[in-house]
This record gives sequence, C-alpha cells and structure tokens, in this order.
Amino acid sequence: MGHFLQHIHGRYAGEKKKILALCMDGAGYSVADFTQHLDTSIPKVTRIVNEMIHEGYLTEIGKQESATGRRPSLYGLNPDAGYFVGIDVGHHSISIAVTDFPGRLVHFADVIPFQLKNQEESVKQMCQLVLQHLSSEDIDQDKVRAYGVNFTGRVNHSTGYSYSYFISEEKPIRNVLEECLGKSVSVENDSRAMAYGEYMNGLTNEEGTILFLNVGWGLGMGMILDGKLFTGKSGFSGEIGHFPLLDNNQYCRCGKIGCLETGASGSALQRLMMEKLKEGRPSILSAAFKEGKELTLENILDATQQEDVAAIECIEEIGSTLGRAIAGLINLFNPDMVIIGGRLSSTERYLMPPLRSAVNKYSLNLVNNDTVIKLSRLGKEAGAIGASLLSKARLVSEWA
Ligand SMILES: [Zn+2]
Repeated sequence: MGHFLQHIHGRYAGEKKKILALCMDGAGYSVADFTQHLDTSIPKVTRIVNEMIHEGYLTEIGKQESATGRRPSLYGLNPDAGYFVGIDVGHHSISIAVTDFPGRLVHFADVIPFQLKNQEESVKQMCQLVLQHLSSEDIDQDKVRAYGVNFTGRVNHSTGYSYSYFISEEKPIRNVLEECLGKSVSVENDSRAMAYGEYMNGLTNEEGTILFLNVGWGLGMGMILDGKLFTGKSGFSGEIGHFPLLDNNQYCRCGKIGCLETGASGSALQRLMMEKLKEGRPSILSAAFKEGKELTLENILDATQQEDVAAIECIEEIGSTLGRAIAGLINLFNPDMVIIGGRLSSTERYLMPPLRSAVNKYSLNLVNNDTVIKLSRLGKEAGAIGASLLSKARLVSEWA
C-alpha cells in the first residue's frame, strides 16, 4: 500500500492520517478532541496540527462553545487540501468529475469522445486524455489524491480487475491506471459507483437500503444495503439485467434468452422501435429507417422528446416491464428507496407512470408502501461523481 503514502509522510504520517480520517465527517475538532482520539499528548498533537495547517490539510473552522469563557479553536478539513477525480468510462466516451476534500463537485466534463479498447496502449491514451483535460482546467495534478474509474460489467475493486477490460491475468487494469496516472486508483462497476454518488451527494444520505437501477444501453443495479455499498463476494453483484424473467424468446448479449435487459434497457428500446418501424408504424424516424440508416439510442430518445407516439409506446412498454421487476426487488429487499437512473431516465414523463403502475400492481401492498421511487438527481453526473467519492472513501479507509 506504499503508493497511498505519497502525500503524507514524515514522522507523524500515521497520526495525520487518523486526524484526516476523523475530519472527513465535515465537523470541527479541538486539539483536546484529537488528543483523545489518538490517545497521545497535547503538545504532540499541537505540533501535528500546526504542521497540517502549514501543509494545507487542516484549517481553523470555528471556536468551541465553552462555559468557562475560554474558547478553543476547532479544526477541520481545508477544502483546498486536495482533489479526487472520477472517470466514468462509457462505450464511446468518458466523463470526468472532480470533487474536493469535503466532497463538493468542483468540475464536471460530460462526454469526452473516447473508445477504450482492450489493450494497454488504449488505457494509456485514456489517461493522457484525462491528464490533458485536468491541466486545461487548471486542476493541479499534485493536488489530486486519488482517482476512481468506472467500467461497465463485472469489476472486482479489491483485486483491481475489470472483466470487460481484461488486459492480462498478471496485471489488473487498476495497476495499469496507477502507473499511467501516478496516483492510487480505485476501480468499480459503473452502476455501483452511480448508486454511491447518489447516496452521498444526490437524493439521500440517510443510512438505509437503496437500490439504484442504471437503465442505459444495458441494465445494471447498484445496492446500498443498510448504509453500505454492497459488492458481493467478488464484486459481481447487481447483474439484474441478466435476471431470466421474460418469455420473449429474445437473445441477450450474454448469450442467454429472456434476460430482463432484453425487455428493459436501451438495447431493448432500439429493438422495440425497429420492430414498430418494420411493421410500418408512422414515426418521425420512418424516413431515416427506409433509407437504411442505423437508428441509435440517441435518435430514439430524441424522437421521444419530440413526442413521437411510436417511440413513446416503446418507452411505456419498457416502463411496465421494469416496474414488474422492481416490484419483485421491493418484495425481496424492503428498500427505503429505489432510484431510476441512466440514459433512459431522461424519458421520465413516459417511463415513470407505467413503471409506478406496474410496481403497484405486482408488489405486496404493505412492503410497497415503505418504498419511495425517485428519478436520479445527479443524472449523467452520477457515475463520475460516485467514482471520485469512492476513491476518497477507499483512500481514507486506509488511513483510519
Ligand atoms: Zn443476459
């Protein structure tokens, strides 16, 4: 874990990390509080705190109320102490979020075109693109404490392997990223990072059980169970898209038939829309279809925004299918909240009413009443924000 130590070194490194970990809750602490926490002496803590102020980690954020009239200073995180960079790797683009030490978003860049390939050279190119972007935005590389990177599909954050970008048995993609970026890197599945971002900076940070459905080209799920991000044994949890739920005789990209994703995802939307166009249903996309142009997910989502009835009907069908699956999830988890995110959440007006209706229809009444269903608040920012916040949480957990 040597690479975690690069910014905090010297004789009090251990104590400093413990102080920073304590301050991560955003509160202010006195020298007496730190002394008690570290179980050491006041003069030593005073020296450490002064060093940390000088190094830019801590700052005075107030005075303690006291009955005796003496009001000791309270110290907390210096917001400028460092940045955490989240990178959300999509099929054709990446997005980047930068958060500060207290977890506030300081920069977001959407959809930088890049197609990550399953080669070390491609990973290096992506890192160069990120570093160039940060420097063009005047974000000091030396102040970046850690990076978080999301991939679709199965990701094991503890070993650092992504099974979409395998590279080689000996070298997990996290290690390649750390070599290129020069900092500690945390890797995660995109839906899980989105769930974490929404949990920490979005709709809620109440401790509880939250299911986040990422309705993008595929269908994934991130779970916060009793306030903790759930990964499963090897980081492969949340593959709700491949739940064999449908009798539609449709092949899934995983090679099986009737997966939920074949009826409730962006790829399902494309298939349903093509079927309607083949039937000769009128649509603003008919002309492009007849010319043999390939209809992208963006084309169909745009048509929905333009109130194209055929596209809306496809969205409604997806909402209904997804709602039936969510009814099952609600019965299973008794969650506080279900959040609908991902690219299809932009069709809220048409997606949500049939989704809610199906949830009411198929879930157990008493259980259903406990759960709030909401649309993602962070939207397209959720993945990159979640990645940056996770990179911080994992770095700090090494310090505590
Ligand atoms: Zn499947």
